[in-house]
Amino acid sequence: MVELIPSSDAIMQILKRTGAFREGHFVYPNGKHSPHYFQMPLAFRYYDTARVLAVALSRKFRIEKDISSQLPKVSIISPSSGGIPVAFGVRDALNAQQIYWAEQEQGKRMFRQYVNQGEVNPSIIVDDIIRSGMAVEETVDLVKELGAKIIGVGSIVRFNIAPEEVEGIPLKSLLDFDIHMYDEGDCKECRQGVQAEHVRF
Ligand SMILES: [Zn+2]
Repeated sequence: MVELIPSSDAIMQILKRTGAFREGHFVYPNGKHSPHYFQMPLAFRYYDTARVLAVALSRKFRIEKDISSQLPKVSIISPSSGGIPVAFGVRDALNAQQIYWAEQEQGKRMFRQYVNQGEVNPSIIVDDIIRSGMAVEETVDLVKELGAKIIGVGSIVRFNIAPEEVEGIPLKSLLDFDIHMYDEGDCKECRQGVQAEHVRF
């Protein structure tokens, strides 16, 4: 049988090949050190790769009867700009009717588009990467404020420090990653004198 959803190993191969997953010595904005860094837009710069990733994620949603039965009257929603290519790819694969995306403005997550109460279809929230889960949780609140129901949540990569479910809906991902973050004093790369690179989330 053809493997419809690529394995975690296959996803990691794609992320390494495209430069989206890097190994080394990185310092995050919260001051934590890590030997790993994901820069997901690098995987989405290649259209073919973006398509493979989005189609694979879409399949995880399509097999849910509660989702497939509501298509095409479904909204695909991204919590941030990083998730926009994922949202468009998943929309395409599912033939869903609407796309929305949120942005951070003055520290508050909000929809860029003007959206009326009741206009948003039952919603699937997708992102390129779920780290703490905070962006997804804020987006869930936004969607609920607009009177829409959340029927799915997922991402290409999910850190295992993120919650396993939001609002009772299990998070779907193509790769669950066991992220290691350390305080400076506990960092192996620091002790080995490896040059550190400061990175953004
Ligand atoms: Zn370090």
